Parts: sequence; structure tokens; C-alpha cells
Amino acid sequence: MIKTKYFWIILSVLLLSFVAINELHFTKNELMGKVTPIKDSHFVKISKKYTNKSNIYLRKEAYKAFIKMYDAAENDDINLNIISAFRSFNHQKYIWERKWNGKVKVDGEYLNNTIKGDLFKANKILLYSSMPGSSRHHWGTDIDLNNLENKYFETGKGKKIYQWLTTHAAEYGYCQVYTSNRKFGYQEEKWHWSYIPLAKKMLNEYQKQIKISDFKGFAGSDQASDVKIIQHYVLGINEKCK
Ligand SMILES: [Zn+2]
Repeated sequence: MIKTKYFWIILSVLLLSFVAINELHFTKNELMGKVTPIKDSHFVKISKKYTNKSNIYLRKEAYKAFIKMYDAAENDDINLNIISAFRSFNHQKYIWERKWNGKVKVDGEYLNNTIKGDLFKANKILLYSSMPGSSRHHWGTDIDLNNLENKYFETGKGKKIYQWLTTHAAEYGYCQVYTSNRKFGYQEEKWHWSYIPLAKKMLNEYQKQIKISDFKGFAGSDQASDVKIIQHYVLGINEKCK
């Protein structure tokens, strides 16, 4: 009788720890980039070996997998260089508001002078930049590699890199989320790769926890609903990466 009791206690403890490991819980702040990687043990600073940028961060699991991918690519004479990784909500707000307030041109025009209205402005910015709170770069699971223009990946060295990634990245858990031929969302980005084992869990949590009302604290945030920021942009990714 006593033995049976211990058996059940041990089994319960084992089951509970299994659930704890597999049910990673992410907070709203983590899902919306409101974290400070330098103070957060889930993140790690990317070594100079892999990037020209100083002080850029990834989640540990994504970084570990990237290093394996980097080494394999190097063996095939391919050099992978990270040009962007984690970006905070505030960083994205800075990028977004510079465009919203007409500090920089978007598609050849200053948007603060446009008479076409706020929805037009938001949609225009979304051709090239994420709305704060909706970027996968907030998660620390996504990286931009080598160059920020699709053209670069269509000839010569860039083409070789892209061909290598499309053939091998999946072996390391990485997936191109913004491919061509999607119905909604951002334009194609041949440079943007996502570490799916972790990003998949975060996307799941995102759908459960983040609501349109969470988009606030930046200029133009009231357009989140009309542009269908979650439905079309956060969820508008390559089906193979889901
Ligand atoms: Zn990116």
C-alpha cells in the first residue's frame, strides 16, 4: 500500500516537471519586446564572430542553433553574418514614428504631409517596417542575415547564400517566414530567418495573450485594428514555418 502511494507521488512529480519544461510560458512583455536582454538570462549577446554589430542579442536556444548552422555553412564556403536580431518595442517605436512623423521618406514621400489619412500611412509603413509590438524581432528568435535587399540574394555570392539557406536552414530549425506568394503581410524578405522550435511556441502564446487593445503607446497605434495587425501581419507568415 505504502509502495503504491510513493509510486503515485513520484509519477506526479515526474509528470509535473515534464509539463513545466514543455509548457514554456511567455509574458505579454516578452511577446511585445518589452524586455531588456542585457538583464535577462534567456538572452545571450552575439559574438563578434557572427556579426558586425555590437550589443545585439538572441535567445540562447536560437543562438546555439545558429552557431551550428554557421559552422555547417562555413564548411560549404558560405559566410552567414547577422545584421539584426532582437529588437525592443522602443526600438521599433523609434523606427515606426520616424516614418509616421515624416522624419524619413517612405516609398519616396514624407508621410506627415499626406492627405490620404492615417490608414494609408500605416499601410505604407507596413510595406517595410513592423508596427511596434508586432515584430518577430521582439521575440529574440529571428535574425536578418547578410543584406536587407532581395536583389542581393538573386545573383552571385548572395544567390549562393540563399540557396544554401533554403536547402539547409531547416536542419537547424530556421525557416524563412516572409516568402513570396503569401496572401497577407510583409513583402518577401530573403534575409529574415526564424528559429521555429521557439518561435512557434511564442506565436502560439501571442495568439492567446495579445489583443488589439495591447497596441498603444506610439503614434498611429489606433490603426492596429484596421490594418488587421495580428491576423494579416503576425499570422501572415509562410505556412511551413507555423
Ligand atoms: Zn527581419
